[in-house]
Amino acid sequence: MGEPLNPTADLRYAASVPPVPAEAPAPSGALRDLRGRPLRDLRISVTDRCNFRCTYCMPKELFGANYRFLPQSSLLSFEEITRTARLFVAHGVHKLRLTGGEPLLRKNVEHLIAMLAALRTPEGQTPDITLTTNGSLLARKAPALKDAGLQRVTVSLDSLDDAVFRGMNDVDFPVADVLQGIRVAQQVGLAPIKVNMVVKKGTNEHEIVPLARHVRDAFGPGVVLRFIEYMDVGASNGWRMDEVLPSAEVVERIDRVFPLRPLEPNAPGETAQRWAYRDGGGEVGVISSVTRAFCGACNRARLSTEGKLFLCLFAHQGHDLRALLRGRHEGRAYTDEEIAAAIGLIWSRRDDRYSELRARQAREAGPAAPRIEMHYIGG
Ligand code: SAM
Ligand code: SF4
Ligand code: SF4
Repeated sequence: MGEPLNPTADLRYAASVPPVPAEAPAPSGALRDLRGRPLRDLRISVTDRCNFRCTYCMPKELFGANYRFLPQSSLLSFEEITRTARLFVAHGVHKLRLTGGEPLLRKNVEHLIAMLAALRTPEGQTPDITLTTNGSLLARKAPALKDAGLQRVTVSLDSLDDAVFRGMNDVDFPVADVLQGIRVAQQVGLAPIKVNMVVKKGTNEHEIVPLARHVRDAFGPGVVLRFIEYMDVGASNGWRMDEVLPSAEVVERIDRVFPLRPLEPNAPGETAQRWAYRDGGGEVGVISSVTRAFCGACNRARLSTEGKLFLCLFAHQGHDLRALLRGRHEGRAYTDEEIAAAIGLIWSRRDDRYSELRARQAREAGPAAPRIEMHYIGG
């Protein structure tokens, strides 16, 4: 057993127990934060473990054999996750995304999907259920995931070139197996499939056009490729602004080969800007988390593997919902109504907008300010 990653950067323990208001209205689905933003999207991290060591997320030097992952007993059970998700859905969440770590490493994750698929929004709809994966186990698991009620999937894929891909995942994992995972996901009817490429200047930027071409040719318009600006999440990836390739440049490079035209967003709060191929070959998206902040419409909350709620990808502190799920007061467990009221209070006090404030914070706090790690909280 080794020491935690870095006592100043390891924020897994930084969470306060949320107050439970003595009286609160029942969830109405109309919750708003201090900036008027609704709560629509809950990202649930189901494990902090991963079989990849992507250099920008879990660099090997810091996440080696001595790294201490969370013990099994501290993970939320499927019942606890489902209970929490049900309370968020009552508050207006329409979309549940499983992430990690690598979510397909969580044993029987399809059972959790089946439990989540049985939830209903206040309007009586099934919530939109999706999952973000590195694709390594997708060929094997896609049929069971689909049968359990998963509707769609996002696969991370940073390069088509095998050597570049193996270098970026840093465990020598072959790109062919991820491509096969996408094919099987398509065959079993998961749709739409999104493929996310994190673009790191000087590392995989030359793969932008080849990947765009391959996705068009091999998978067709049912698979949407999206380019993500390399972000300063966590404190372990040694992020530098000069390694960010602005999305505007990504669009320009693709447009030179495959002309593009802009598309309207699918939904309010959508993180990606959408572009259609003018020849009808489908669409691509860009997620400009660094160069074009979208905090104004951010309707996402994140639940960590051990039940801590984070209101921003760049939060310094979580809210320990597990303490309520497992805790007792006045000789009894907390009721759903009480936990829902605590969640309502947390969201109603939310004021986060890190990306908008990035420039100012970088000046004030410096690049090494403590932040939650991406493999712990998911994307
Ligand atoms: N392991 C799964 C995967 O890779 O898809 C799910 C978890 S991973 C943390 C979620 C997403 O975050 C992935 O698409 C990954 O590429 C992205 N990501 C991780 N670190 C990032 C960074 N520094 N900047 C931008 N995206 C990042
Ligand atoms: Fe694992 Fe995903 Fe992070 Fe890569 S990005 S190390 S696959 S959690
Ligand atoms: Fe949302 Fe925080 Fe990202 Fe802004 S920086 S879009 S508030 S997660």
